[in-house]
Amino acid sequence: MSATRLDWTDTPGGGGRVAVLTLDLPGKSANLLGSAVLDELESRLDEVDAAPGVAGLVITSAKPGVFIAGADLTEFAAGLDRPKEDILATCERGQRLFGRLASCGYATVAAIDGVCVGGGLELAVWCDRRVATDSPKTQLAFPEVKLGLLPGWGGTARTPRMIGLANAVELVTGGESVSAREATRLGLVDDLVSSKGESGKGKAEDLLSAALRIVAADSHSGDFRQDRERWSGPIEQSETELAFLGATAAAVIQQKTGGHYPAPMAALELMLEASQVDLAAALEAEREAFAPLFGSPVNRALLNVFFLTDRAKKATPEPRGVSPGSEPRAIETAAVVGAGIMGQGIAAASVKRGVRVLLSDSRADALARGAQGVVREASYNKQTKGVDADLAIERAALVTPVAEPAGLASADLVIEAIVENAEAKQSLFKAVEPTLGADAILATNTSTIPVTELAKGLARPENFAGLHFFNPVRKMPLVEVIRGERTSDATIARLVAYSKRLGKTPVVVNDGPGFLVNRLLLPYMNEAALLAEEGVPIKQIDRAAKAFGMPMGPLELHDVVGLDTCLHAGRVMHAALGDRIEPAAVIERLVDADRLGQKNGKGFYDWRPTKPGRPPKREDSAEAAKLVAPNPQGETPNPQSLTDRLLLPMLLEATRALEDSIVGDPRDVDLALILGIGFPPHRGGLFFWADTLGKQELLAKLEPLQPLGKRFEPTDMLRKPGPLLG
Ligand code: NAD
Repeated sequence: MSATRLDWTDTPGGGGRVAVLTLDLPGKSANLLGSAVLDELESRLDEVDAAPGVAGLVITSAKPGVFIAGADLTEFAAGLDRPKEDILATCERGQRLFGRLASCGYATVAAIDGVCVGGGLELAVWCDRRVATDSPKTQLAFPEVKLGLLPGWGGTARTPRMIGLANAVELVTGGESVSAREATRLGLVDDLVSSKGESGKGKAEDLLSAALRIVAADSHSGDFRQDRERWSGPIEQSETELAFLGATAAAVIQQKTGGHYPAPMAALELMLEASQVDLAAALEAEREAFAPLFGSPVNRALLNVFFLTDRAKKATPEPRGVSPGSEPRAIETAAVVGAGIMGQGIAAASVKRGVRVLLSDSRADALARGAQGVVREASYNKQTKGVDADLAIERAALVTPVAEPAGLASADLVIEAIVENAEAKQSLFKAVEPTLGADAILATNTSTIPVTELAKGLARPENFAGLHFFNPVRKMPLVEVIRGERTSDATIARLVAYSKRLGKTPVVVNDGPGFLVNRLLLPYMNEAALLAEEGVPIKQIDRAAKAFGMPMGPLELHDVVGLDTCLHAGRVMHAALGDRIEPAAVIERLVDADRLGQKNGKGFYDWRPTKPGRPPKREDSAEAAKLVAPNPQGETPNPQSLTDRLLLPMLLEATRALEDSIVGDPRDVDLALILGIGFPPHRGGLFFWADTLGKQELLAKLEPLQPLGKRFEPTDMLRKPGPLLG
């Protein structure tokens, strides 16, 4: 089956024939540039080259919302171990093929509607011109750095010559997408077409007409030939300008990557150097810079993260009891009970996606404040850093404050986010459940109370589940959908669909202490507290975790969560998991000394207030140091053994969670930790990282830690031969 179609038309007003090459990869929702598609492109170009009287070539796509979604990453992943010469050859082949678009005897135009990223944008920048629709789906990007790579089919060489070095550096090293309008401002797109189909003929026709007009104008004026010439030489830029651009871009990259991601810096260095040579030399330099990144540990880890996320987007939990192919019934009205931190976040996320929300709280003042907070957050404009008044009016209409449980009767879903107390939650369910329709779902956002226990006393426990959001909801992409003993598959399927509608990534987990993420986070946090108690300086522990790539040190995290909350969670986990979680006495000592963390300005650190609306500043505290380790023992471990102490209890607990069937697939653990606690993506996930070490090394690391107790005892999963992600 063919992935392309070639049609012929005439330029408006005569002047020659135009080939229209339409990409439409069979059986896929997006066009991807795999090797078979590249082969086909090559023969299509041969065909056009051989035809007489050609004035131009327009490349377009038949896929709704997608021009080209980049290279085929499954092929990339299969070839990670290829030798350097092979990788260089793959780059050269792509450069040569796309390069034909800028050396053929006719004008070439990319007609873009929808996603145009990676190799797709490289193909487009090799065309003489680009025309795009202003549809919100038209997004252009070089996201290669997000996979630990840089564009290797000419993107880093051709783009700066066309749109200027500074703009191209920002696009390539940042990896972020730009809208068609922004791309037009940058000079990346030459003509913008309304996606409303204003001519009355429809968007695709308008896009093609615009492309044909460009071909006609260019073949008449010959301007495209001059531009080809101009874009083949070095870029004019003074040394001072280059030095300034290099220094500012390097500072931005360092700040964003913390030094853990080599690709953006490699891309910057390449683009600065290659700006001073001609295009052919710049392409060679690009190949040489690409090759060592391909198959590097960070590239492998980030590809794994890509596949984890992709799998989560596609996967739905095997909804037994839901007929195959049928969509779970949508939630149109959600009720959120408890208008505090979590309730407001969940309600705002729902309103943003057009869900009607009934917001309730037992306290009138909390309800009024909460409703305001929801509208404020749901209409926040990132650009202006303030509330968008028009949006606020629109979104306020979706929020209804409700004082009594009876007012929640019309909800398809009720999410409970009240105080963390089983009795309070159960008495709320008792009041609410009888008012609801037979199909309505009740869900709890509890962080520690077993879902099965909360379901006791419900008339319809099959319609009850956990829906565990993370704080702050607006930033955290993960939702744990927790299946209680009697939760039905239909309920799980609807909650999964609802979480996706909110733009979150759901991971379905079985009920159990701490569910998945907190069960794994707690051993890590607790180990940090135990290390501090042994006398390892607080800052040094946090520094070791951050050097590994954690977004925040575990002791700082204690302060952010609140030490009283940590103490409670530690006790719950200890009760459930026994001596595997040995609660650190230091947490209780800090709480007794009224050091509760950020919330009262003192915990493991002191927290000094700064400007209103800004986070407090962290400072070392001599008082905390004394309370934490009254009798420091021996010498301080080196950073590597600190990392081992912190991460191995988390890893072991993850193997136990799998053995307990909390989740069925280790990839769920990796994804949940990356999205739920910010486990460093450049490590690929907890199990992915552990597999890079191998079981033998892990067991050797655990050996000397055995005297510390059960939490370091190797599990069956670790002793079994084969990789953890096998
Ligand atoms: P919060 O204290 O900010 O808000 C709780 C709200 O519930 C308050 O406005 C309170 O007035 C209201 N409330 C209390 N009892 C009520 C009742 N019987 N009926 C109606 N309203 C009642 O608490 P929060 O941090 O938003 O936590 C809410 C739930 O979410 C808890 O179960 C908590 O464990 C869980 N959770 C919290 C976080 C977090 O980081 N804060 C993260 C995940 C889950």
